[in-house]
Amino acid sequence: MAEELANQCSKLRLHDQENEFVDVGEVEDDVSEERIALMLVGRLITDRNYNLDAFKRTMTQAWSLARRVVIRVIGAKLFVFQFFHWKDREKVLEGRPWCFENNLLALSEVAGNEQPSDVMPMHSPFWVRLENLPFNRRSDNIVKTITTSMGELLEIENDDLGLDKYRRVKLNLDISKPLRRFVNMRDNDGRVLRIDLKYERMPFFCLMCGVMGHSERDCLNLPEEEQNQGLGWNLRLRATPRKGRHKLMEEVEEVKACRKILFISKPEAKSENKEGEGAGLI
Ligand SMILES: [Zn+2]
Repeated sequence: MAEELANQCSKLRLHDQENEFVDVGEVEDDVSEERIALMLVGRLITDRNYNLDAFKRTMTQAWSLARRVVIRVIGAKLFVFQFFHWKDREKVLEGRPWCFENNLLALSEVAGNEQPSDVMPMHSPFWVRLENLPFNRRSDNIVKTITTSMGELLEIENDDLGLDKYRRVKLNLDISKPLRRFVNMRDNDGRVLRIDLKYERMPFFCLMCGVMGHSERDCLNLPEEEQNQGLGWNLRLRATPRKGRHKLMEEVEEVKACRKILFISKPEAKSENKEGEGAGLI
């Protein structure tokens, strides 16, 4: 009887201890802050199995960092990357998107106050090309308007002369959503134009629903009756690597090197302008 009572008392004491709070708010932890500032969390967007050693080897080689990186698994296809120099971490963030065996590795920065398994990268930057833009609808403002609903605009590539085959923007895309294939643009005169989209370094995605990380054979995103309606997406969304860009840029730089460039249009075309006055100025 006495032994039973003692057992009960010890359980009660344990229960009391579990209800207590350990206050760490005032405890100094400078080393952790520095470490966290050099950390990233990554999620491999795939429903397939993968080889962890091959993943670590491939990412380390692809990143080619000045210092080491330590990679630890913290959940299902979820990793923490510990860098040791801020330039290495910046290099990895700047170089996104990264893929392993054609599967996207989505990366998130870490605030520090979240639990590791709760950090779930859901966005990734991609360079997107906007094709078939009319010559008079290529300004940065038009491009910003067209891409507003697609994701946060991170960067817009210069096209000073408006002569490139496409405008190129870096967007932070929600990777849980289907890839957008085109944007319908309504012109001043009510004409609807279709602007085709292409994605650079696009990983594996489902041709049935347009979402990354699974194949059409394993697609659970569409109801069965819609699955027989054919493939809605195709590999034309993948942009081919750019060639000859350097030469084109040199040409633009030569034009820009002139002190003052005017576009001089014929007086009839712009009757309100006097001859010699330009429509645009670089
Ligand atoms: Zn799918």
